[in-house]
Amino acid sequence: MNSVLVIGGSGFLGSHVVEQLVNDGGYSVTVFDIRQLSESDDGYCSGVRYLQGSIVDSSSIEEAVKTSKPDAVLHTASPVHGLPEKIYYDVNVEGTRNVISACRAAGVKNLVYTSSTGAVWTGQDFHGVSEDRIGLPVKGYDAYHHTKAVGERLVLSAQQDGMNTVILRPCGMTGYRFFSRVEGQWATQDVRRPSERDKQLIWRMAEVHENKQHTVQIGDNTNLIDYAYAGNVAHAHVLACAKLLTQPNTVSGQSFFITNGEPMPP
Ligand code: NAD
Repeated sequence: MNSVLVIGGSGFLGSHVVEQLVNDGGYSVTVFDIRQLSESDDGYCSGVRYLQGSIVDSSSIEEAVKTSKPDAVLHTASPVHGLPEKIYYDVNVEGTRNVISACRAAGVKNLVYTSSTGAVWTGQDFHGVSEDRIGLPVKGYDAYHHTKAVGERLVLSAQQDGMNTVILRPCGMTGYRFFSRVEGQWATQDVRRPSERDKQLIWRMAEVHENKQHTVQIGDNTNLIDYAYAGNVAHAHVLACAKLLTQPNTVSGQSFFITNGEPMPP
């Protein structure tokens, strides 16, 4: 059985990745995260070993990689968008550097890095771009986007030094949370699976709708934006991990946008 260390595995995307690795992929999974999930938390996956620590602390991540001895590391951790600048440099740059050093020290060769479509964004419009037609900018749009690109560069240089790496660039991710018209209140779960993991997007959109703020229009209503369900983005991580473990030469060194495809016109 292959083993995987999921850094950021308590998060929105990370917990979907963990679930799929365990339930569909048959992997043995360890999570490393500053937030440790317990059994009552949505996203907790039984059979998974949860380690608490920060990738900013080099000895902590080094110890986690050494003791879990993974065949692959999936690095999904990052602060969410909209925080003070320093935290992005600490986590996305120094933290990612620590993850790579920890992999090297423990002899782990396979690394999947979760970046963002925003890594290539400097504020311009994009339509129909592909990985081979756009490179990383010298200066990203803001600290979050810039440091996701710096993280990519660190991962690419690790690949040039002999690691097998895949970079995944998700677009905006959605979970599910819906409004129950019958009860007139927010439901926290749908009929298939509970989910309160989407902390950023759906509930805010839903709240805008509930407060009838959707009657306010910003811009000329021609902006397009691409969203994908977090479970589908997680599936891309499982596929990247499987490829790295079985046919690394077919994917190593590559970056992939993970989207639902061409956005629909409004
Ligand atoms: P999230 O906040 O739900 O998950 C991130 C996890 O990383 C959290 O559990 C957090 O505790 C953990 N973490 C943060 N700092 C850490 C540290 N120093 N050490 C260890 N763990 C740490 O966010 P998410 O939306 O699931 O994002 C996951 C990844 O996807 C991130 O890399 C993010 O940049 C990327 N991404 C997210 C979106 C989106 O729309 N949410 C879009 C594109 C890319």
